[in-house]
Amino acid sequence: YRLDEFCIPKHYEDDLSRVLIPAGLINDRIERLARDIVEDFDEDGLVALCVLKGGYKFFTDLLDKIKGLNRNLGRSVPLAVDFIRLKSYVDDQSSGNIEVIGGDNLKNLQGKNVLVVEDIIDTGKTMQKLLEILQGVKPKCIKVASMLVKRTPRSSGYKPDYTGFEIPDIFIVGYALDYNEYFRDLNHVCEINEAGKQKYASK
Ligand code: 5GP
Ligand code: MG
Ligand code: MG
Repeated sequence: YRLDEFCIPKHYEDDLSRVLIPAGLINDRIERLARDIVEDFDEDGLVALCVLKGGYKFFTDLLDKIKGLNRNLGRSVPLAVDFIRLKSYVDDQSSGNIEVIGGDNLKNLQGKNVLVVEDIIDTGKTMQKLLEILQGVKPKCIKVASMLVKRTPRSSGYKPDYTGFEIPDIFIVGYALDYNEYFRDLNHVCEINEAGKQKYASK
């Protein structure tokens, strides 16, 4: 999609090459995902575990939809929330080192149905590492919802239980996904251009 057809914040006008997924399309897709998730979890309820920071938009939008379904369809899936923070990227490269920084006491997840809510799966290494950590606290079950999955030859083969969109092997920003902490305040999933990468480079 061409940039000028969408509401792009003025401060990012020169830093993007295209809109890959407009906010409206994301919204529709999340509605569907919420339905699939509610069907799978039922009255047992679930703990939605938000992977910060990039997962926060997807997390709040997905939970709103699940709450809406509970209301409108008379489904009742009790929701608890929890947060974990992972960091692996500097500029547009994975540092390879995945750090868990902060989050609640993971022991609280023992015996629970856990839904991990992530922004994007690239190589899949971050999620595999997180799943290893989570399995250590023995939840009843773990499912993963990722808004985006990249089609990349660097993939470890990992696939989440719920996927919003598959995207090509490019670096994207917006909808809470960042480039060195910028672009989280952009509603659409967009491709960053060279000017943007230079402007917001880490050094
Ligand atoms: P993986 O370990 O799967 O290679 O990388 C996963 C993490 O890298 C994601 O959770 C996300 O934080 C970051 N990441 C991967 N690809 C992109 C991208 O295209 N844009 C942004 N902003 N972050 C990405
Ligand atoms: Mg992430
Ligand atoms: Mg990031």
